[in-house]
Amino acid sequence: GIRLKDEIVRVKQILKAAEINYEGNQDFSIKNVPLLTENILSMCMKEAVNNVVKHSGASSCSISIEQSWKELVMTIHDNGVFKSDGDKDTRGSGLLGMKERLEFINGSLELQTKEGTTLIIRVPNDVK
Ligand code: ATP
Ligand code: MG
Repeated sequence: GIRLKDEIVRVKQILKAAEINYEGNQDFSIKNVPLLTENILSMCMKEAVNNVVKHSGASSCSISIEQSWKELVMTIHDNGVFKSDGDKDTRGSGLLGMKERLEFINGSLELQTKEGTTLIIRVPNDVK
């Protein structure tokens, strides 16, 4: 499995290579998170950033992770343009795969495409 602190290092390298500015948090200190949850969040972060690099045309990308008593919320935002042209047959499996993995831990995925693309990922804090 991948730890978040390792994945964020990789993600920053990928963004740098694509000349997309990283403007998010530097510190993702989360507490008492089950390893499975952390692995799934890492996978989602990786896939979301792959999409930013592949599809968005953005000049900047930010990532934040907030933890409350109730839930963990990871937000990945880019200032590009969401491309909704792909028809269902040729569509990739990235977003779907994220959704399926998140459902497995009672998490959810929200996609906002108004100003750039924002992915809001929520997972409950009390998963065992
Ligand atoms: P795969 O992830 O399997 O390599 P994919 O990236 O095309 O293929 P998804 O990750 O499911 O598939 O994304 C679906 C589609 O949503 C993309 O093809 C693209 O058109 C659009 N999309 C997703 N993320 C972004 C983004 N950050 N900016 C612009 N368009 C996006
Ligand atoms: Mg993808």
